[in-house]
Amino acid sequence: MTRPILARIHPDALAHNYRLAKQHAPQGRAMAVIKADGYGHGFLQVVAALPEADGFALLNSENALTLRDHGETRPLVLLEGFFDVAELRACAQAGIGVAIHHEAQLRMLETTPLPATAAPLTVWLKLNTGMNRLGFRPQHAEVVVARLRAVSGVRLAVLMTHFATADEPAGIAAQWAAFAPVAQRLGLPVSVANSAAILRHPIADTAWLRPGIMLYGCSPFAEQVGGELGLRPAMTLQAQLIGTQTLAAGESVGYGAIFTADKPMRVGVVACGYADGYPRIVPSGTPVLVDGQRSGTVGRVSMDMLAVDLTPCPTADVGSTVTLWGQGLPIETIAAAANTIGYELMCAVAPRVVRCIDPD
Ligand SMILES: *Cc1c(COP(=O)(O)O)cnc(C)c1O
Repeated sequence: MTRPILARIHPDALAHNYRLAKQHAPQGRAMAVIKADGYGHGFLQVVAALPEADGFALLNSENALTLRDHGETRPLVLLEGFFDVAELRACAQAGIGVAIHHEAQLRMLETTPLPATAAPLTVWLKLNTGMNRLGFRPQHAEVVVARLRAVSGVRLAVLMTHFATADEPAGIAAQWAAFAPVAQRLGLPVSVANSAAILRHPIADTAWLRPGIMLYGCSPFAEQVGGELGLRPAMTLQAQLIGTQTLAAGESVGYGAIFTADKPMRVGVVACGYADGYPRIVPSGTPVLVDGQRSGTVGRVSMDMLAVDLTPCPTADVGSTVTLWGQGLPIETIAAAANTIGYELMCAVAPRVVRCIDPD
């Protein structure tokens, strides 16, 4: 047996969440977003769990090439496009779609002969409508489109943009107003909707949805957890107790001795620390489930261990299961305690934590 910590991946939850995204936008097709190793779930496992997905959006061509090598034939798109000429050629050769968001990429496209034997390279043209990270300004769209259409071996397929505040009261109205007329003039299929837009804005019912976080069961909204949106957690981070201690009143546990027992208490030591991706910043009392019973952390999270209060679960002992987040304990709860969002916690689950596919 190895060190007892696992990220249990729930393929049924992934499939359910994907279907829910499509229900919100029945006209749309959906690129499941699997960047950051499938938001920490393992991108190959996520793809395997989504036989109904219409395609996949990701960041690095290595992962996309791996999918092609595994025989994946569905559309793939690199959300930041290619970073150099070699990568551009590799994408063209392997039939990997690319976003184009910058003049530098456009020039590479214009000056790089693409493999003559390959099918046309699928290009998603990205417009910056207010996020101000990536993309051409809407007023330049027509010129860029004309230049793209002049490049042989390129198929301009989609006009895309990305919303900065789809999850917030500001919403998407201003960005949509900048985008929609250009899209209409150009007559291209569009792709605008991340999870928040899919769940909250009917405008999301467009050609290519881009659901990310919702596939993994986590809410994109600060004020709601995934379960309240009908989502199911796709990962349960689970470890075991590897030790127990009985503290006398006045004794403390862990580095810095920041937690002191005010009465005699049993604590359990869990095989999970910040080197596994559990956030060090969380305070004592951050919820955990010990053998399914709700309890809380005590003291500082260390690199490989953390301690939990066994008062609510007196029969717990070495080998007891501790759920850090997932089924029965929303990741959003832990994220809030760590002053961050579920996205960051999932993506930070360390490579040393084995991802195992849950049979149920
Ligand atoms: C990450 C990403 C998404 C998915 O966003 P979620 O909030 O996780 O749904 C969609 N589009 C682009 C361009 C992205 O980078």
